[in-house]
Amino acid sequence: MREDVSLLQELIRNKCVNTGDVKSGNEIISCHTLERFFNTYGYEGEILHKEESRSNYLLRVPGYDKKAPSLMFQCHLDVVPATEEDWDLPPFEGIIQDDVLWGRGAVDMLNITAAMAVGFVKALKQKTSFPGDLIFLALADEEASGQYGADFLTKHHWDKVQCDYQISELGGFHLATDNGPALTLARGEKGVMWTRISVKGTASHGSMPYKSDNAAYKIAKVLQLLADQNTAPKLHDLFKDMVAQSLTSSIAARLLNFEDHDLGLDQVFEDNPGWAKFLHSASHLSISPGVIRIGDKVNIVPDRGVLDLDIRILPGENKDSALAELRRILEPCLNDIDIEVFEYFPPNLSKKDTPLKKAITQVTSGHFPKHQILDMLIGGVTDGRYWRNKGTCVYGFSLFDEELTLNAYSERLHGKNERISLNSLKLSTDFFTEIPSSFYREWELSK
Ligand SMILES: [Zn+2]
Repeated sequence: MREDVSLLQELIRNKCVNTGDVKSGNEIISCHTLERFFNTYGYEGEILHKEESRSNYLLRVPGYDKKAPSLMFQCHLDVVPATEEDWDLPPFEGIIQDDVLWGRGAVDMLNITAAMAVGFVKALKQKTSFPGDLIFLALADEEASGQYGADFLTKHHWDKVQCDYQISELGGFHLATDNGPALTLARGEKGVMWTRISVKGTASHGSMPYKSDNAAYKIAKVLQLLADQNTAPKLHDLFKDMVAQSLTSSIAARLLNFEDHDLGLDQVFEDNPGWAKFLHSASHLSISPGVIRIGDKVNIVPDRGVLDLDIRILPGENKDSALAELRRILEPCLNDIDIEVFEYFPPNLSKKDTPLKKAITQVTSGHFPKHQILDMLIGGVTDGRYWRNKGTCVYGFSLFDEELTLNAYSERLHGKNERISLNSLKLSTDFFTEIPSSFYREWELSK
């Protein structure tokens, strides 16, 4: 059996389910799987941890030229939970049916983890070593906060996990555009600003609400202002490229004009709602109410309420500018509310033209000669953000067959019946096998 297939099956069966609880995950089991895999090729990696059961696996093969940039394959070992009864095939057995491998993690992202591991040793088999360090890093805790994985390692072991270039997840999906077939590449991520709105009222008896001071109505007012808000589009360079590459020139012109932007977006939504959502996300500060808590007894007028907002901010914005925008929207009720940011991570974006980008384009053209690479700004977050934040150039990319469209991926991600075709897995493995040589060739040329 192919090694990438058996490795993916084992990673799925290891069932490293991360619920957000420190006792879940158990990524140490998959660290041992990887340790055994790399040992058979004579490579000795390192297991790093803040909490032993939540271990990370690191393998760095030193380069021979001190001036050459390092290249890291970065992946994660944990998966989100699966509701078994909703699946057509069991989620933790790694069953293959009609050349499709089923299981939690089959697209997010144990498939890439397996392809990266096999590609890593295959690349080194061809070359023995490269100018710069070649690094493989499999992380714990990506599906929660990263506090046992990326956050911990970039804070406490930066000397070990630092790298100049990195490839990770959330890219390589097929997208039919107005200008021909494309493959998406995740070049940046929006910032996260989770914000709590608190209101106060006055407790009194629910049987006599006349002139009462009810916290629920204050929350309702905030919600209405948010529902009616329309944040202006921000037409940054990456968004302009996304639009120009994916849409006909007439729709593109609409989207790049402040007055016509909303109409243009509606037009895209009619044909391709999934792509319209991405385009909206890539051009707007977004605010989504997620949690509301008000009152706990029906006959008491509630005296307090909280509303938690998921706010995502664009490159070029920061906490202060986003808070100013929120205050502008909530202006009519600012006297009644308290605003507190309880989680913040800045937006992050890697460069457009680099030797790694050229290598990705080059390797891709060997498999999909007609496809263009379409850079994207992603609304969600991955562990790559911890490295981008420290100056590493990070791209989310891999190769898959044409069944893995951006929409198919979005459906399977964290959903039921997660699965990957064996052909997609092979393309990913080929990609990671070919990329190191191509990258150092492009780096030589760029000197
Ligand atoms: Zn993932």
